[in-house]
Amino acid sequence: MFKQYKKDIYFLLKYNSANAVLLGFASLLLFQQWSPLASVADSWILLLCILPLSLPNLWTITGSAIVLASVAVSLDLFSVSLGDWWLLPLGAVIGLQSAWLMHNAAHESIKPRWLNRLLGEICGLQQLMGFPGWAIPHIVHHQFSDDPDKDPHPPQYLTFMQFLAEMGPSMARVARQFFFNLWKDHPQVSRIWQSMVWTSMAARYMRAVFLLVLLGPKIFVLCFMVSKMVNMIWYVHFNYYTHRPTGDGRIEILNLDHNFYYKLMNATMAGVYYHKNHHAKASLFDPRDYDKDSSKPLISYTHAQESILNYPVVND
Ligand SMILES: [Zn+2]
Ligand SMILES: [Zn+2]
Repeated sequence: MFKQYKKDIYFLLKYNSANAVLLGFASLLLFQQWSPLASVADSWILLLCILPLSLPNLWTITGSAIVLASVAVSLDLFSVSLGDWWLLPLGAVIGLQSAWLMHNAAHESIKPRWLNRLLGEICGLQQLMGFPGWAIPHIVHHQFSDDPDKDPHPPQYLTFMQFLAEMGPSMARVARQFFFNLWKDHPQVSRIWQSMVWTSMAARYMRAVFLLVLLGPKIFVLCFMVSKMVNMIWYVHFNYYTHRPTGDGRIEILNLDHNFYYKLMNATMAGVYYHKNHHAKASLFDPRDYDKDSSKPLISYTHAQESILNYPVVND
């Protein structure tokens, strides 16, 4: 997929346009034939409420969830009973499982091989960005880990809260820069980039519309939106705590398994927090199976001494 992206300037444009059109048709068909949304009066209001989901931003997504839940409750679009509580933890589980499955699918480490594409597309639907939208920046992350200019999400010396706010904009900045480095700064390239941005937003929105039509408002709000938010916050946590500064200007990639949280995540997500092993051998399905000596620190980036002096000290 990364190779296709580097070879074909229109690759993402074509992928996202095709996704938007196909999902549009599928949503129409579902709405007419089966959808729980068809029986809801004023369901078009819900389609307006999920417009912010077209932006890949934690705050717009959280805002959209709050607006959607408030509108649904105030217009009495669905009723929630105590028996529906299980939808919330189910959403959290889906968000977590989608995170590691997407990661493994991007590295094609799932067997049989054809499952990678299928699972990647399903996770891409749940995460709203599509499979290549996740896989391409991730491969760039492996190639330029912790390079402050080239890695899509280097935590550097930011605090966790700063990284929470910065990860999305940083990914957008690096994606743009990578594209223009690849195809050179030219008016025609700029036009293609702009179209790519618009079609990726349209495809994100159509993925959300499809899920709303498929699941109906109750499951969409209580399960899908929870899964999306858990998934996003988990990625921020993962990217932050697996790449840490050493204090002497270097950035180290870590295996984490020292408390209940990491042990639980590793047990249920195929050793995902063994990230140092993963960077050493990304083709492994479970990085705990890494069989070489991993006692030496894995340093991904070393800062020039003078640039470190400009960074604040981070205590968390
Ligand atoms: Zn990494
Ligand atoms: Zn990886």
